[in-house]
Amino acid sequence: MTTINIENLNNHLEKFHKVFLNDDDCLEVLAELKWSDGFICSKCGNTNYCSGKSAFSRRCTKCKKEESATANTIFHRCKFSLKKAFEILLLACQAPVISSYKISEYLQLRHMTCYSFKKKIMDCRENTNDNKFIARLISQINTKISNTE
Ligand SMILES: [Zn+2]
Repeated sequence: MTTINIENLNNHLEKFHKVFLNDDDCLEVLAELKWSDGFICSKCGNTNYCSGKSAFSRRCTKCKKEESATANTIFHRCKFSLKKAFEILLLACQAPVISSYKISEYLQLRHMTCYSFKKKIMDCRENTNDNKFIARLISQINTKISNTE
């Protein structure tokens, strides 16, 4: 995973804001990645789906279970906006020298929020599969950002 210099950080975040305008933009990327190998219903294993009620969610055509793009990811039941969560992710993984205090300053979020989400990310990175998912997500986000340059 590439790290970003502190000097380039503001620039990087600025670009992020130009591409990711709201939570739906983030959900779209998350859904693309989550189901990149196709949809499998977590309840019955069916692979056919239609779109669910919430944005970018999928609904099993057999048992009707709806799964959100965030379910079974580190963003599940996140208490703050997904866009902020993406920002913490970028900062925590690409600028690891930045403390959670600095992150909270940057993003205008409570320190405890940044601290615990950053910790969650770091804990997940200990797990090979979760780490892979995080790495792929970051590269997906960065590809989107660089495509608009
Ligand atoms: Zn199902």
